[in-house]
Amino acid sequence: MPSPLWFDPNLCLIGGNWVAPAEKKTLPLINPSDGSEICQIARGDAQDVDAAVHAAQAALDGDWGRKTALERGRILSRLGQLVLERVGELAQLEAMDVGKPLTQARADAVALARYCEFYGGAADKVMGETIPYLDGYTVYTLREPHGVTGHIVPWNYPMQIIGRSVGAALAMGNACVLKPAEEACLTALAFAHLAQKAGLPAGALNVVPGLGAEAGAALSGHRGVHHISFTGSVATGALVQQAAGRNVVPVTLELGGKSPQLVFDDADLDAALPFLVNAGIQNAGQTCSASSRILVQRGVYYQVKQRMAEAYEELTVGPAQDDLRVGPLISARQKDIVSGFLAKGADLTVAGQGHIVDGTPSEGAYVLPTLFADVAPDHVLARDEIFGPVQVLIPFDTEEEAVKIANSTDYGLVASIWTRDGARQMRVAKQLRSGQVFINNYGAGGGVELPFGGVGKSGHGREKGFEALYGFSQLKTVAAFHG
Ligand code: NAD
Repeated sequence: MPSPLWFDPNLCLIGGNWVAPAEKKTLPLINPSDGSEICQIARGDAQDVDAAVHAAQAALDGDWGRKTALERGRILSRLGQLVLERVGELAQLEAMDVGKPLTQARADAVALARYCEFYGGAADKVMGETIPYLDGYTVYTLREPHGVTGHIVPWNYPMQIIGRSVGAALAMGNACVLKPAEEACLTALAFAHLAQKAGLPAGALNVVPGLGAEAGAALSGHRGVHHISFTGSVATGALVQQAAGRNVVPVTLELGGKSPQLVFDDADLDAALPFLVNAGIQNAGQTCSASSRILVQRGVYYQVKQRMAEAYEELTVGPAQDDLRVGPLISARQKDIVSGFLAKGADLTVAGQGHIVDGTPSEGAYVLPTLFADVAPDHVLARDEIFGPVQVLIPFDTEEEAVKIANSTDYGLVASIWTRDGARQMRVAKQLRSGQVFINNYGAGGGVELPFGGVGKSGHGREKGFEALYGFSQLKTVAAFHG
């Protein structure tokens, strides 16, 4: 297949210029479908991050800082249009880089366009308030950008996560420094090229690819950064928060999950079944909001187990370009992590497994999607985030027990309830410790408009929807005394 690369992949974008990192170092980017090297990418470090932060500040002090909300919105809307025009190419890049089956990669590119459209349209609709106060005063609030925002992005959904964080930050008038993941950064670079084409002024978006411990750590601890948005693991999120805390910089953390689906005896199983499976295997389970725990009431437990097992037997696994249900994991390292978890399930019943199609390169990072049945809620596979295509089935008897099991992990990102009983829907939705709750669906189609974020170790702060615009801005109160 011809290379879908249409830009130089081993450069950083700093102050509107594509430049080699100061130390001229590079890193190999690996295609997880077959283990081959795609290209070399820039290995930016603290010097490049420092230059990017200064370039961002210069943009705020210059052309970008003078743009009106309407002008910022128009640039984002144009960017959304450019993304839409290149959906096919962006999907090719993401499929090659992340190992994501093409259909899923395409959906991510469409979502990126949608984020640009949404935040483009919203940029001039964020308003302050007037506050009734003492006689002789007029008091009002202004929503202002933080200034320079840092965006540390993982490899699992680069386009979607860039769209929701960089899109909202730019809409509010911040200038961004983006640190994509070292395992997958091609669409971040492509996006930055398109942003330039859309007319984004120099320095409003800077991109420094590199290692987490180098470029990522430098960005989280930089004194010139005023807000950080981090998506990734709990351990790294805690490090980022500590580093930012030393400069008293606010952080939004979007970390992992162990998201449950609760299936009650009266559920519409035909409607539920596709969601039960798909939410666990989409992007090979490497989704922060993956549903890795399926809690099923005993009256339908056997039926759900049988039907999910049948669905698993039909799951095909292979290279991203073949566009099967499941692609490879991101890397050999992630394959080792997931295989380690599968080994910890040796004492469990395997209800169903997918299969790797003939001809799949043995050098790729493939694992078998696996459904475990009759799992105790405190089993390590029911507690820890696996980040692979692995789901556990947990039986329950009562509503109270279901809620208790659902709330029993350290995480709280997403949950869903499958029942026809309206009172139960309302009751359980209130009791679940989770940033999002879905009733008789899972994920609501991705919902660019829907505020998203976790409780507990799933993180704090909200991205997506209008809420993100509040997160990427700060409130100033102006109290005028006029007698
Ligand atoms: P990670 O959290 O280490 O990496 C995410 C981002 O943080 C990357 O851009 C990385 O370069 C950067 N980073 C790494 N170390 C850093 C540091 N010290 N300071 C600042 N930035 C740093 O995640 P990972 O190692 O790629 O994956 C490990 C696990 O994280 C996965 O198995 C999975 O459980 C979880 N994960 C979760 C999500 C999510 O969306 N919640 C995404 C990716 C990974």
